[in-house]
Order: sequence, then structure tokens, then C-alpha cells
Amino acid sequence: MTLIEDLRAALGAAQVLTEGDLTAFEVDWRKRWRGKALAVVRPGSTDEVAAVVRLCAAAGTSIVAQGGNTGLVGGGVPDASGRQVLLSLARMRRVRALDAANLTLTVEAGCVLQAAQQAAADAGLLLPLSLASEGSCTIGGNLATNAGGTQVLRWGNARELCLGLEVVTAAGEVWHGLGGLRKDNTGYDLRDLFIGSEGTLGIITAATLKLAPQPAAVMTALAACTSLADCVQLLALARSRLGAALTGFEVMGRCARELVARHYPQLPRPLPEAPWTVLLEASDLEGERQARARFEALLAAALAAGSVFDAVVAESLAQSQGLWHIRESIPLAQAEEGLNVKHDISLPVSAIPEYVAHTDAALEQRFPGVRIVAFGHLGDGNLHYNVQAPAGSDARRFLGEHEHAVNTLVFDALVPFSGSFSAEHGIGALKRGELAARKSPVALALMRSIKAALDPQGVLNPGRVL
Ligand code: FAD
Ligand code: ZN
Repeated sequence: MTLIEDLRAALGAAQVLTEGDLTAFEVDWRKRWRGKALAVVRPGSTDEVAAVVRLCAAAGTSIVAQGGNTGLVGGGVPDASGRQVLLSLARMRRVRALDAANLTLTVEAGCVLQAAQQAAADAGLLLPLSLASEGSCTIGGNLATNAGGTQVLRWGNARELCLGLEVVTAAGEVWHGLGGLRKDNTGYDLRDLFIGSEGTLGIITAATLKLAPQPAAVMTALAACTSLADCVQLLALARSRLGAALTGFEVMGRCARELVARHYPQLPRPLPEAPWTVLLEASDLEGERQARARFEALLAAALAAGSVFDAVVAESLAQSQGLWHIRESIPLAQAEEGLNVKHDISLPVSAIPEYVAHTDAALEQRFPGVRIVAFGHLGDGNLHYNVQAPAGSDARRFLGEHEHAVNTLVFDALVPFSGSFSAEHGIGALKRGELAARKSPVALALMRSIKAALDPQGVLNPGRVL
């Protein structure tokens, strides 16, 4: 029998797609990678995933795992060879268990993040992972990329929220590592090896996640700042006044807000344009009145100190959602505006104003008229420092000619600060070259030995990461 026939026998013919429109699986979210799969397989259980891996390994065929296909580095779509099997986890989306006393939720990997958040909310609890792609991205994808998002400042990356995993190995065996333990020092941490491995070490089929109590009140505000240094000062003030109640601190540069205003004119514009706008969120267990009082006192102190020159606090849930909508619409507004070079960099927060001033100037000098769309998770020292072609120019041509030089300039400028060229989105296919060029030989050798130990045949997502 051929591999396709074997897969059909294992999963049922309906779950092995080889014909028709497979674009949704073969083209990535940014439409930068267009692959061709030998077949798209949709297993419905962990045992079926294991069967697919065993069959593919025996046939010498490699596998690309895919969740919501919202990844931004070309890691979750097949290459153009037509020889890779695309394994979609989309049918594996069950909530397996919720343990309220232990504050844990166990879900299958294909569970969409928003559905997992809802399962927690239905039990009066909070799953504190939030990304603009939460309506489509999956828990498996979130863990495979160690996703960040807007709550990292308080709760950490996806890694910090994961207590256990169930994984199908490259040999087609199942590692049953689920469980709700907060302490477990029995040998090497296998869970942490798979988290952030982008489908190259194992296929995540389920996860146990940490939950938290739902806050009694969530406050949102926008604050206008003259400089990034003022934003950093505001962050320090917010941390000292709100402590663990500070759950979000996002910045938006002028250009980012202008793009949102242009492409989504229906969204609110509660503050005038400013060089930098900060979106602050505070979550409080006590209640609305105390939360509002503390929040307003913080903003009054920031206004008095001069780090903020204007601010507005949302008065209702609808207003709060409106403010978040502005922030979350930036990537979409950028996509509407046209092709652009995306960077998700991280540095010590204290170094960000200097880095941005220096890099803005260097880019402007080298590529006059270039538009820098900077925004993101300042509270984590993580900026989406994106570069859009000059207004009115041919963006495709600009990228074709200059993308590499733009990347080199942006990434080289991180070196004096020991910054990272990929804070959130990972390596995938897009940043393999950067990883090879910028990681130390020792780090690369360790990574290669891990890959060789866990996937000696190179069955899982070859050509990605390493
Ligand atoms: P996919 O895109 O399907 O896959 C991503 C990678 O993980 C691929 O390498 C794939 O092979 C692997 N993979 C997927 N599922 C599994 C599995 N079950 N087992 C093993 N490997 C697997 N990311 C952030 O970190 N922070 C953000 O704030 C953020 N905002 C975003 C906003 C928008 C509008 C978009 C489009 C993306 C954003 N992202 C962000 C990137 C992306 O949403 C996240 O990386 C997300 O975690 C990917 O999940 P997914 O299910 O779509 O994964
Ligand atoms: Zn982000």
C-alpha cells in the first residue's frame, strides 16, 4: 500500500485530503509562504496522531504540524516540494478536564485559545494568555511557539502557564506528561524542551494549563506621552503603584496609530495623536471602586510628574474593548497597508528608548521616507518594530531590494544591548538564517544534539528552526 492508502486506512478517507482547495492549510497568514502538501491529515485522537507519525516515519515522509495557522514565521505550512504531510490538529479540540481547586485546565492541542479562555471563564476562572489572534490560534500552536501576548507582564509567556504536556514523539510513541503539578523535579524537564520547539521535536496533543481567579474589576486607560523615555517612566510608576494588579502595558507609536485610523476609521479615537500612546490595564481582585481610585491616582501622579500629557480611563466594558481594539488592529492595519518587514525584538526595558532613537535615525538615513511602525509589549521589553515601505512606493519592490539590509541594521543594533531578534514569533523558516548567524556555536551545537536525539530521522518539520 502507498502512504496515502495507509493514512486513509488509519484515519478514514474523509480525514486525508489530497484534492480540492487546500489553500487554508498550505498558505500562511501573511501569504508569504505558499506550500504544497502531499496530503493534509486530520487525526481525531492522540492515538491517530501517533499512527500518522509511525506511518510517515516508516515511509521517510516528513510532517508539518499545524494548529490555527496564525504563525508569522512560515513554520506551520508545508514546503513547496509536495512531499510533506500536513498534520492539522484542528479536530482535536476537546476540553478534557477543569480542576477548579487546583486551578488547572486540560485541553487538546487543537482547542482554539478563545475557546479555552471561555472554558475557564465558564468556571469563574481566568486563563491569562491573550493574543490578537486568539480567535484562531490554538493551544498547541501557542505552546509550540511559546507565545507571548498582552498579559506576559503579569503572567509570563505560554511556557509559564503550562504545567504538563501530552506529546507524540518522532518515533510515534506517546509521552504522557499531563498533570497539574506545580513542583516536580524528577529529572530533565521534558515539557520545557517541547515548548517553543515549533513542531521540530514532537507533536503536542494536549496540555494542562494554569488558571487564576477572575479579577473583580479590569480597568483600561490610554495615556499620551511625548517620548519613549516617558513611557518607560510611566511603566516604573505603574509597577510601583499597582504591583501585581498591573496586567497590561502596551505602547503604540504615532505611525501605528495613524495606520489604524486610516484603515479602521470606525474605531474610537479618544486621545489626540501623540508621539507615543500607552494602553494600560489593571486587574483587581477587590472591586471596581478601589480599582478605579488606584488607577486614577496613578494617572494623576503621572500627569503631575510630566511623564504623561493626556489620559483617558474607559468608563465601561465597551469602552475598554474599544481601546484594546485600537491596539489589536495594528497588525491588521499594517496588512491592509501592504507588505512590510516585521520584527519582534526584545531588550532590557531601560535600553529601549536609546535603541529606538538610534535605529530610527539609522533607518531614515539609509532608506529615506521609510515608515517605522513600532508598537507592542513595552512592559516585557518587547517591541514589534516593523518597517513599512515609504508611502506611495512599490512595497513589493522595496522588500525585494532592501529587506535583508533592513533586517541586518535592526538586528545588529540589538547586539550592544544583548537583545533578541525574536522575542515572540519564533524562528520557523523566516529566521533560520539569523539563528545560524547570530546564536553562539555552543548554543547551536546543543540545539542540534537535542534535535538529533529526539528526531534522528528528521521527520518533524525539517528545515525549520535549525
Ligand atoms: P500555527 O501557526 O498553526 O503553528 C505555529 C508553529 O507551531 C509551527 O511551527 C507549527 O508547526 C507548530 N505547531 C502548531 N501546532 C503544533 C502542535 N500541536 N504540536 C507541535 N507543533 C505545533 N504571537 C505571540 O507570541 N504574541 C502575540 O501577541 C501575537 N499576536 C499575533 C497577532 C496576529 C494578528 C497574528 C496573525 C499572529 C500573532 N502571533 C502572536 C503569532 C501567532 O498567533 C502565535 O504564534 C500562535 O501561538 C500560533 O498558534 P497557531 O495555532 O496558529 O500555530
Ligand atoms: Zn506581540
